[in-house]
Amino acid sequence: MRIAYLDRTVHETDGEPKPNGGVSTLSKSIDLQGSVETGDKTTIASKDFGGLYSTKPLALIKPAGSDDVSRVIKAASRIPRMTVAARGNGHSINGQAMTNGGLVIDMRSTEENHFRLLNINGSFFIDVSGGALWENVLTRCVSRFGLAPRSWTDYLSLTVGGTLSNAGVSGQAFRYGPQISNVAELEIITGKGDIMVCSETRNPELFFGSLGGLGQFGIITRAMVKLQPAPDMVRWIRVVYTEFDEFTRDAEFLVSRDDGESFDYVEGFVFCNNDDPVNGWPSVPLDPVHGFNQGIIPQTGASVLYCLEVAFHYQKGDHPSTVDKAVAGLLKPLRFVEGLKSQVDLSYVEFLLRVKRAEEQAKANGIWDAPHPWLNLFISKSDIVDFDQTVFKKMVKDGIGGPMLIYPLMRSKWDNRTSVALPDSEIFYLVALLRFVSRGPSVEESVAQNREIVEWCIREGLDFKLYLPHYQSKEQWKRHFGNQWTRFVERKASFDPMAILAPGQNIFKRTHLS
Ligand code: FAD
Repeated sequence: MRIAYLDRTVHETDGEPKPNGGVSTLSKSIDLQGSVETGDKTTIASKDFGGLYSTKPLALIKPAGSDDVSRVIKAASRIPRMTVAARGNGHSINGQAMTNGGLVIDMRSTEENHFRLLNINGSFFIDVSGGALWENVLTRCVSRFGLAPRSWTDYLSLTVGGTLSNAGVSGQAFRYGPQISNVAELEIITGKGDIMVCSETRNPELFFGSLGGLGQFGIITRAMVKLQPAPDMVRWIRVVYTEFDEFTRDAEFLVSRDDGESFDYVEGFVFCNNDDPVNGWPSVPLDPVHGFNQGIIPQTGASVLYCLEVAFHYQKGDHPSTVDKAVAGLLKPLRFVEGLKSQVDLSYVEFLLRVKRAEEQAKANGIWDAPHPWLNLFISKSDIVDFDQTVFKKMVKDGIGGPMLIYPLMRSKWDNRTSVALPDSEIFYLVALLRFVSRGPSVEESVAQNREIVEWCIREGLDFKLYLPHYQSKEQWKRHFGNQWTRFVERKASFDPMAILAPGQNIFKRTHLS
């Protein structure tokens, strides 16, 4: 299809310079196998899961494959100030996959291009499209090969390229590192439109730059993801703590143990010490049948309590008493409130798709599509007690209308050659305030509170980084990257002298690089 008919409907909505004569230049040379949407058909690309920003792209490109992506980028690079953004499944919060008046490349249209099992010296990998959803990678790998990726996100309706551009973390990351630590090779269409294959040894600057690179080095069209044998079953357990120091001691103990001496998944969350169905006690038990005995809920007066969430993998053929014994052994040293334990057994796939079930319920209740002013932070172990005292126990003590995650990660499982910025200490916490505005404070209050939390972290000198970052100024980006800033900019300049960017990432415009 020729992009000859694109309308020039670019609006000057954010005061930023817009492409000049873009479409006519574009239309001269591109023949695409895929399709180009304009006008109302670009609506999907004008918003994201966050629901906070709305922009109008010039066109939504649905590429058939890498050649199409390459042609679009090459054509865009000939147009002054034309911007391009890859869109995975649009589950960003702050418009990271949008571009105002530019071209959005919808990577979902490439899902079926790659799906191949590789056996390299006895290690298994799956070669998948950057636009594939992780939930499809999971179900196909398990059903066809009995294998699965090792490191996940909590929710899997996200694309491979989208999470690899950030990090991809969940309760397995303490052992295997984030998803970006579990990739052996990428195919990337750079900002120059070159189709390049990269790995630790082949074009390593592009490989490590793109992992956690916020979509700034090019577009990931294929990824080779490490696999392991998939377990059949998971025992999913929640235990409750009244004291933060006991919660963190146990969580850190579990993530620091050697393989085989800990659970297979470790996460945690904060909840309110009240009977609010969303923010409080009723949200904690894993199912009504195995609910907590309300009689032993501590009357300590603390505003918030802590839930450690762990999971143990096993096979269908394992004897129940063997599983019980192994789990009891792992729980034994933990100091949770006796009796405040809830557990369920479910298949491995059901466990990994657990948030999808919550999504279905939230959609039925009309909550899922509400705005989501989420805040994700990585906070050093040395500062997490201060954070608890000020943020959890005071600022958000009445809840946020959604989950408040907190769990430790190990820096040594992350590769410091990637682009992702982390706190300095070996153990740091992921803290996620996952707000659903329809049932908590308003959007304005939520955004203001997020800002207040970040400003407090800066003022107090906490060792922290934003995860899924979004900033408005170059100075903020420089502070975010710290001593990795120069490396990031130099790497980016060598692969992407033009702008592949999103509204919240406008430091990366060519004016700053050339
Ligand atoms: P998009 O939002 O479409 O894009 C994200 C960024 O990646 C943009 O900058 C975009 O330009 C770029 N990009 C997209 N595709 C490509 C590509 N192929 N090549 C290069 N760049 C690309 N994250 C976690 O780590 N752990 C979690 O447990 C977790 N849970 C989540 C639960 C929910 C309900 C939601 C909404 C988000 C969650 N996230 C989690 C965050 C999620 O990982 C990021 O928002 C991710 O970017 C979304 O993926 P996406 O495919 O929708 O990407």
